[in-house]
Amino acid sequence: LPLIAVCGRPNVGKSTLFNRLTGSRRSIVGDEPGITRDRIYGEIEWQNVKARLVDTGGVVPDDEALIPSEIFRQAQVALQEADAIVMVVDGRTELASPDMELARLLMKGGKPTFLAVNKMDSESMYAAAENFRRLGFKNVLPISAEHGSGIGDLLDEVFAVLPEPAEGLE
Ligand code: GDP
Repeated sequence: LPLIAVCGRPNVGKSTLFNRLTGSRRSIVGDEPGITRDRIYGEIEWQNVKARLVDTGGVVPDDEALIPSEIFRQAQVALQEADAIVMVVDGRTELASPDMELARLLMKGGKPTFLAVNKMDSESMYAAAENFRRLGFKNVLPISAEHGSGIGDLLDEVFAVLPEPAEGLE
């Protein structure tokens, strides 16, 4: 199945989004036994098309010191294995330099990338999402992972770029 990666700093709402998209079907996968900062995989279906979803920051502790090394390492893995990448930012915060570094890294990878500006719980907040266009993404979508708004538009755009699954293979 094609793979969609969800990237972003801690607390932006990645796991809220992941849970909304996948329900409860999820499994934690690490690079090595005993390492807890892992990726979490799940399955998603949209308009009768299935894909896998990976939350790259799944169990990263909320520790600022870990942001550069660990989030970026996870992003590198996502860049290698994913067919599409969704970067999530917290639309209620200022645009910060780690977001810019992560965005640059993701866009350099040459995979289709999407920016989900999360925590836009009402349409009156969508103007704030425009701020994040400075990150340079072509596709910028305001969403509320908690309330579900904007999610359909995001999935429409992401699934449109996924490769067709090979006939008979699952
Ligand atoms: P992660 O560390 O990126 O996986 O972020 P989480 O999914 O754990 O979310 C961090 C915090 O943001 C939690 O308190 C969530 O309830 C909150 N949150 C996530 N999505 C939304 C949203 O759409 N709107 C609001 N207002 N809060 C959200």
